[in-house]
Amino acid sequence: MTEHEQIEFDVLFVGGGPAGLAGAIRLMQLAKEEKREIEAALIEKGAEIGSHALSGAVLNPVALKELIPDYREKGCPIEADVRDDEFYYLAPDRHYPIPFVPRYMHNRGFHIISLSAFCRWLGEIAEEMGINIFPGFAGKKVLYGPDGKTVAGVRTGDKGLDKEGNAKGNFEAGYDLIAKITVFGEGARGSLMKEMDRETGIFSGKMPQLFETGIKEVIALPQKNYFTASRGNDLHFMGYPLGFDTPGGGFIYEMQKNRIAIGYLTALCYENPRTDPYEEFLKFKQHPFVADIIKDGKVLEQGARTVSTGGYFSMPKLAADGAMFIGGAAAMHNTPGLKGIHISMKSGMLAAEAAVDALKRGKFERESLAAYPEKFEKSRAKTEMYEGRNFAQGLSKKGILKLLYLGSQYFTQGRGVRDFMPAEADSSTLRPLKTSPVLYSVDPKSIDNVLHVDKLTGVYLSKTMHREDQPSHLIIHDKDVCVQKCYPLYGSPCTRFCPGNVYEIETEEAQPRLKLNPSNCLHCKTCDIKDPFANITWTCPEGGEGPEYRTV
Ligand code: SF4
Repeated sequence: MTEHEQIEFDVLFVGGGPAGLAGAIRLMQLAKEEKREIEAALIEKGAEIGSHALSGAVLNPVALKELIPDYREKGCPIEADVRDDEFYYLAPDRHYPIPFVPRYMHNRGFHIISLSAFCRWLGEIAEEMGINIFPGFAGKKVLYGPDGKTVAGVRTGDKGLDKEGNAKGNFEAGYDLIAKITVFGEGARGSLMKEMDRETGIFSGKMPQLFETGIKEVIALPQKNYFTASRGNDLHFMGYPLGFDTPGGGFIYEMQKNRIAIGYLTALCYENPRTDPYEEFLKFKQHPFVADIIKDGKVLEQGARTVSTGGYFSMPKLAADGAMFIGGAAAMHNTPGLKGIHISMKSGMLAAEAAVDALKRGKFERESLAAYPEKFEKSRAKTEMYEGRNFAQGLSKKGILKLLYLGSQYFTQGRGVRDFMPAEADSSTLRPLKTSPVLYSVDPKSIDNVLHVDKLTGVYLSKTMHREDQPSHLIIHDKDVCVQKCYPLYGSPCTRFCPGNVYEIETEEAQPRLKLNPSNCLHCKTCDIKDPFANITWTCPEGGEGPEYRTV
């Protein structure tokens, strides 16, 4: 049996996104204020802090100001301040400026950031303050104490296994990182939290989790471009190509050096199994108005992520025995405002405060960590999330009902005509292929692999790397389900919803066969969420692999 060396900490943060990093910094601030020795660590599955944090985003600086009031002086990497918002409805060939920008989408004065650069900066501060940062270490398994239910830490993945799971010459066993308190900030659809839900029901009694898949790029534009003379530098789009019934939309943010971040999100409640979020992104870029903004540009970097949009009612229990849950992993996001970084940061900071209280008392069961959910309930972050509590659910409705629900929510601080509005899990919404309309695809001749790139070029531009000779991190529970049920009924939607071209169906022989290319995986988790038979489980591959986002 493999021996796993044990390392002990007071607090362990799992995930080096804004939630975990803000939490780690707050923890060290409190330790300094109270002159307490706190041994804390943070693990991140990417090769570096920030390498799995994808390109441009709008940051409401409310939590940052509280955490690091002199953030500008400390060199916070800000791409641009939002000078104004522009909001458009896209019809197939036209665009219509929407004069009324919903209040939650007012971003003037907020900051446009590269999330990757922002996380690297936070990581440096956390490290300077004494956090032990371990990039390249993926949490593979939750460890429990002798009672079988108190979280005792996390085991990191073994490195150097071959495809069959046998140790090779360079084998390095994972570590057992033992902690009094483990704070999970894995990002949307955290694999460890999914495992914990099976074992301890942290999501039980909650609304289903809802997600959107976003494809994003950083594009270099000519020196004279749309933003040279535009009113706003924070552009949002609704309408084309998804239309009215399937939620989703696009954005373009101005960045430094004539660069932009552009992205398109497709809600995973879509019904047509022919839907391909990557194709929707290409169609968005080729809309005449958008095409004019990005003309003569060159894609520098591409990537994909899911965003957890289910909102307040889909949040898990925020504390368990020995554990707390923060950020996107805990469904924290202001869905109507299309922003979540500030809420994630605040959740990490509140968890850190509760951790210090618990360390003082020397008690780490759920009740002793309850200060975190209590503080969250009293926070502005909760107020924001509570206002959007029925938003994604209303957005998933069709036709006039959608307008009725969203309109009434707008004027009743989120309550609408139906509070605690139910929604189906994203894995349950697909209709059979034969009753689903054929969707048009972009003209293959328009793919020049400069401004419009295909999926495989996108994988290349994400700098995704995985060692080929290792056990697949994508677990297909029953391959017969893929070919005997999913293929005839839905036409294998995994071959379309995956932006990394990881899934292929080979049909040369009498029986179709599923082929996997796990080394292309962008770690977006769409397959884990949208597979209609829940037949795919995404797990962390060896630490230090996956995308390497760091263009800016
Ligand atoms: Fe995303 Fe899954 Fe494809 Fe990886 S295999 S890129 S997680 S859909």
